[in-house]
Amino acid sequence: MIVEQLKRIKDTLPPEVCLVAVSKFHPAESIREAYDAGQRVFGESKAQELVQKKTLLPDDIQWHFIGHLQSNKIKYIVPFVAMIHSIDSFKLLAEVDKFAAKENRIINCLLQIHVAKEETKFGFSPDECVGMLREGLWRGLKNIRICGIMGMASLTEDQTQIREEFATLASLFRDLKEMFFADDAAFKEISMGMSHDYQLALEKGSTMVRIGSSIFGERVY
Ligand SMILES: *Cc1c(COP(=O)(O)O)cnc(C)c1O
Repeated sequence: MIVEQLKRIKDTLPPEVCLVAVSKFHPAESIREAYDAGQRVFGESKAQELVQKKTLLPDDIQWHFIGHLQSNKIKYIVPFVAMIHSIDSFKLLAEVDKFAAKENRIINCLLQIHVAKEETKFGFSPDECVGMLREGLWRGLKNIRICGIMGMASLTEDQTQIREEFATLASLFRDLKEMFFADDAAFKEISMGMSHDYQLALEKGSTMVRIGSSIFGERVY
């Protein structure tokens, strides 16, 4: 089942788009099935769950952290995490840098941007993000690498609204690239699109989709 669904999704993705298989709330055995079918990039949203699963699974998995990251959990994931999608403040970025320095690592990070209507979603507003980058303190952080942005569209049936929100993210990405990262090849990712809206995200230029339930089935909380 997982293998078929993974393949079905894969077949709809352009080859250059990275599939982050979101395995939160699903057991290590399910991840193993996807792994055996060739999937190597997995997304988790809780530090403790991620650390536990990592110990049970092969070392060549690239673990992406996609959930809200509390400062006191950073140290658990920094030794091995491949990318953090959910940097939502300069303070968090600086904290990740600090722990990454101790581990002698450079951590790939995405800036999470809030464009959805829901109040509860974390992230910078586009203006806050520009403001943070303009301030420039991030340039002194040597153990993080800003690789792009991540965002979520509103939970709505309104495809026009979802398209608009993804277009806003893509346009912000282009602005940031021009203003701050023109000479930085690493700044290239737009992480947007989930099970129900990733086709729309691809239309707007997503480079990374984070897909959970369409691969692993519904989550049981
Ligand atoms: C859970 C989650 C996903 C995956 O959602 P699905 O609807 O299961 O595809 C993607 N991104 C983030 C940030 C998530 O928390």
